[in-house]
Amino acid sequence: MEYKKNDRVTLTIEDMGSDGEGIGKVDGFTLFIKDAVIGDQVEAKIIKSKKHYAYARLEKVLQPSPFRVEPKCAYHRQCGGCQLQAISYSEQLHFKEQKIRNNLIRIGGFDAEYIDERMQPIVGMEEPFHYRNKAQYPIGTDRDGNVITGFYAGRTHTIIANTDCALGASENQQILETILSYMRKNKVTAYDEVTGKGLVRHVLIRKGFTSGQLMVCLVINKKMTKMSYPTAGVQKNTNEFLPNQGELLAALAKIQGMTSVSVSINAEKTNVIMGTMIHNLWGESTIEDTIHVRDMQKENYPYTGDALTFKISPLSFYQVNPIQTEKLYSLALEYAGLTGKETVWDLYCGIGTISLFLAGKAKKVCGVEIIPQAIDDARENAKRNHIENAEFFVGKAEEVLPEFYEKATTEASSDEMLHPDVIVVDPPRKGCDDACLNTMLRMQPGRIVYVSCDSATLARDLKILCDG
Ligand code: SAH
Repeated sequence: MEYKKNDRVTLTIEDMGSDGEGIGKVDGFTLFIKDAVIGDQVEAKIIKSKKHYAYARLEKVLQPSPFRVEPKCAYHRQCGGCQLQAISYSEQLHFKEQKIRNNLIRIGGFDAEYIDERMQPIVGMEEPFHYRNKAQYPIGTDRDGNVITGFYAGRTHTIIANTDCALGASENQQILETILSYMRKNKVTAYDEVTGKGLVRHVLIRKGFTSGQLMVCLVINKKMTKMSYPTAGVQKNTNEFLPNQGELLAALAKIQGMTSVSVSINAEKTNVIMGTMIHNLWGESTIEDTIHVRDMQKENYPYTGDALTFKISPLSFYQVNPIQTEKLYSLALEYAGLTGKETVWDLYCGIGTISLFLAGKAKKVCGVEIIPQAIDDARENAKRNHIENAEFFVGKAEEVLPEFYEKATTEASSDEMLHPDVIVVDPPRKGCDDACLNTMLRMQPGRIVYVSCDSATLARDLKILCDG
């Protein structure tokens, strides 16, 4: 049996794909249906048909799955942000847990029994909304020429106008409405990806959940000649970057918690959101936030009393879910098993968050990170928390670590960092580079703690590490 485009089918959803799409079968033919929930009985329309499978559009839920919940956001189907909002949170956690287990078995080559003996239950959160401390909103123009902001529809760059995302901080809406009304009033143009014209490209908003501090950074498309390029951090209330800039700054300054407003220059035709230069226009150039360590062995995970305060710049990476970050870091610390005598490398260290927690319980920690501003923040963060046994290096982990290793071995040095007790890694989604993994193996650390945001590359890398 083969299906053609626009054919209608009725089926039960039996599985979930890696992006949360529903999967079901009709006469042995597999269908992938976005927005269909495991357990649903649905009517769907074929969009694209291949020999053994097809993609279909959810037309009607005939019998809803017991896992279905009322989605919080009216845009959940169009928006590219949320894929699982119509599924109960406990089922979302189950889905994620299974995804990790499957990747470890399928890609990592581990035995199912081996994984099941070791894998601990997933650690979720209580209220999975309004938790994100960072959002990057694209600015664009609708069909009628109005300036809008919101999120991209799935797999496109079409903006769905919505200033009230259910994942972000509640202040985001007021900030965005302030920027939009300033733009409309002053006829400030939105960037157009096709023509490369227009001024405002994106708005980055960050909130320190503990400090309550808010940071706004407008990414603007402005070509700057060398001569007109002012130095970062000294531009206050000039018309240099935005028309009638003072009006915007005054309006933003009125928002409770606002402590930092800046612009980032990005005149490139690129999907990369932030430019590399930041100019502070009002307030501080960074915001501050505090992270507490938790006791993961106790119910409800009480604070252990250990807390560190961090300074964060617009370009630095900072974990986006502050509630889960405390649990994540607490687990990473627990797995590192420190007693105070250990030497530790923290690769992909960002602003030094994990490094500094480790430093409190180790002899020495060395952090490595590719973004220079993040390393500036890391060094500053060490100082502000009175930590003296942490050292930071700018560069790629796959270059800094091998170079360090080669140098120390050729000089027959007895550097204590050559064979560390612990190596912690926390790479971006693409995982660790082979050169990094190989050097980690040659260093023969006592332990490796691998923090990962993508279980497929985690599984790939764990195979290499375990084989080595
Ligand atoms: N551990 C930190 C940061 C994790 S995010 C935290 O929890 O906050 C990953 C970090 O790796 C980012 O800061 C990113 O800038 C950095 N990075 C990306 N590629 C890198 C590379 N090749 N070498 C070193 N750092 C890299």
